[in-house]
Amino acid sequence: MRVATYHGRSHLVATVGSAGATVLDLAAVSDGQFGPDPRSVFDDWTAIQKWYEATAPDIDSHGLSADPHALGPPSPDARQVFAIGLNYRDHADESRLAYPESPMVFTKFVTSFAGPVGNLVLPSDTVDWEAELVVVIGCTASRVSPDEAPSHIAGFTVGQDFSDRALQLAGPAPQFSLGKSWPGFAPQGPWLVTADDLGAEVDDLDITCTVNGEVMQQGSTRDLIFPVNELVSRLSHVTTLLPGDVIFTGTPAGVGSGRTPPKFLRDGDVVESTISGIGTLRQFCSAAT
Ligand code: ZN
Repeated sequence: MRVATYHGRSHLVATVGSAGATVLDLAAVSDGQFGPDPRSVFDDWTAIQKWYEATAPDIDSHGLSADPHALGPPSPDARQVFAIGLNYRDHADESRLAYPESPMVFTKFVTSFAGPVGNLVLPSDTVDWEAELVVVIGCTASRVSPDEAPSHIAGFTVGQDFSDRALQLAGPAPQFSLGKSWPGFAPQGPWLVTADDLGAEVDDLDITCTVNGEVMQQGSTRDLIFPVNELVSRLSHVTTLLPGDVIFTGTPAGVGSGRTPPKFLRDGDVVESTISGIGTLRQFCSAAT
């Protein structure tokens, strides 16, 4: 099952092709049982999955062609947003930092969320890219084991953890969250994909980021230091994870600040972030005026 936010309402994704996706309003197809509010979809996640499996709604023949600019993040008003730093060894290496012994956690404030396709206003000349697998929680998780994690996950989407490096690293004890939370710094989408629809294990997905068509990042979720189920388990042993909560799982090597000389985003750049089995984000950069 694939679920998208379209014009602010929850939609099922029927087909995905080169011409784009077709979507169907969840409230309409479920006769008002579920949706349209995306938050309510995660509160009802277990029931929606059962309904979907039992009724096999005929979404393929009723889909409407989706304008990609009207897609939003799959969980647009998450109550908690977690982001994990240094979760790939090659990215820790390029950052010249030691591998973490427990997950390094910060947040991206929810007002930085954006849909999968759109403009990114560059607030400074040190904005960097980080393509990431994003996990969305499907039911309340407290002190779950890694084996129990999958039944608490709704699905997966693509995220960009845009980062203003100067702001992120300012001060004597850098605090990442503000520098990663300018408006538009957390685009996600194009839709949420459940584990059974990924076409591969979540720990075996290719993740790529290009800038103006040039490959900058090319990694695999195989190389996560703390894989998805381990992350959900560890976070749930401190906080209680809530339906719709979002976890940015970290980025592989190839960010601009790790290059010699460093490379940052400029007016006119196009950033594309892709994860196999899910889809692609596309941001068009413009300088702040
Ligand atoms: Zn990141």
